[in-house]
Amino acid sequence: MLVDAGDGVVSQLLGAGIALETVHNIALTHMHWDHILGYPAFVWGSWNAGRLKLDVIGPLGTEAMHEQLVESYYREQAEWAIDLGFLRAGFDDITVRDVPVGWSREIAGCLVEAGPVYHPPMHALAFKFTYREHTLVVTGDTAKCDELIEFCRHADVVVIDACAAAPSPELAPERRRIIERLHEFHASPQDCIDIAAQAGVGKVVLTHHLPGATHNFDVSNYAGAVLIGNDMDVIAI
Ligand SMILES: [Zn+2]
Ligand SMILES: [Zn+2]
Repeated sequence: MLVDAGDGVVSQLLGAGIALETVHNIALTHMHWDHILGYPAFVWGSWNAGRLKLDVIGPLGTEAMHEQLVESYYREQAEWAIDLGFLRAGFDDITVRDVPVGWSREIAGCLVEAGPVYHPPMHALAFKFTYREHTLVVTGDTAKCDELIEFCRHADVVVIDACAAAPSPELAPERRRIIERLHEFHASPQDCIDIAAQAGVGKVVLTHHLPGATHNFDVSNYAGAVLIGNDMDVIAI
């Protein structure tokens, strides 16, 4: 299960030693560019590598994104590739579904659930994965909200948007203002710790860092572990 497909997802998967054609499920948290720019690259790269099926879920707008970024633009090239000998399977039969908060399905023994976040004006989802009584939540982009705290309750690991960190003091004032406005729809590192504490989460992984952001937070009310996530981290759940 790949969660989100930002720019560079193909090279990052290969760098992590994951064969592209073995990824058969994608959960997209929302349609902001930084979460989907690599989606067409993944569809093409994995299909050309031999992927024969793909199921994609995401919030309202996911089906339209696939239609516009893959079908509308690349259909002609796909037909050319099929003419070369690539199988239709894996391109023609990709299933893409808009799913609501509360959606759930068991995939390969893992319960996958879609949950609520606050990231206006986008339709956006968090995803929870429960496998052998171990639970991971990946929030995607979100500000702190009560519904997300409930969704994260007692999760073993929560990978969370900590984008709203204090901007670097070296930034120009107009850049600082942009980042400060982002705080309306992203959580700060302290919000993430507070969410983890209030939800009784075992380990919280802060992600979605902006260049030069500083991660100041107080963990005195949180008994769990805090990780500043980096590319290629492997986290046991
Ligand atoms: Zn976003
Ligand atoms: Zn984002």
